[in-house]
Amino acid sequence: MDEVKFQEIKKKAIEEHIPIIMDDTLEYLNKIFLNSNKDNILEIGTAVGYSSICFSKFLSKKGTIDTIERDEERAKEAIENIKSLGLEEKINVLIGDAVEILPTLDKKYDMIFIDAAKGKYPFFLNEALRMSKKGSIIVADNILYKGYVMSDYNKHKQRTAVRNLREYIKEASDDPRLETEILEIGDGLIISKVI
Ligand code: SAH
Ligand code: MG
Repeated sequence: MDEVKFQEIKKKAIEEHIPIIMDDTLEYLNKIFLNSNKDNILEIGTAVGYSSICFSKFLSKKGTIDTIERDEERAKEAIENIKSLGLEEKINVLIGDAVEILPTLDKKYDMIFIDAAKGKYPFFLNEALRMSKKGSIIVADNILYKGYVMSDYNKHKQRTAVRNLREYIKEASDDPRLETEILEIGDGLIISKVI
């Protein structure tokens, strides 16, 4: 991969305040998943493609990523970024609302990364479970949401997000099909393995 181009994509995203995956979160995922030969990865929340580009290193030779973004401008930028790194055969950007797109997908994924509207996290988890198989990994970012999720503090503005993130944690923790851990890395990461 062209490291200079990659760093440019990251720098531009940071300058434009696009909430890309945090360095320590990525470092942790790299430790577990680098070169883990995944055939199919699903990402919910592409933004400009930064995390997808990073996750392409988790793929097998023929592996692919499907990633969903509802903001058309961001999705177009993601497609350009992906192309500029020659990853267009590996990363497929689906433009539209994941709430509508997910029910139309019917594939089993080895890894699913949830990083979009926090109010929809429980729905995303259910869809992720439907498209999982034994051994699949479901990861959700921002699960502790600046610490709001584990404290009493919740301003009106964040209340729906916080309620849904708590519901996600409860469902992922209680589901007998899942082995779940919550990590205080970045903005909070929850990793569930389908057993
Ligand atoms: N995963 C990216 C960052 C994603 S930021 C990275 O680490 O590089 C979250 C993105 O999710 C935003 O671009 C937002 O437009 C998108 N999003 C939020 N809700 C969505 C939904 N319901 N469907 C599709 N995309 C959504
Ligand atoms: Mg995130």
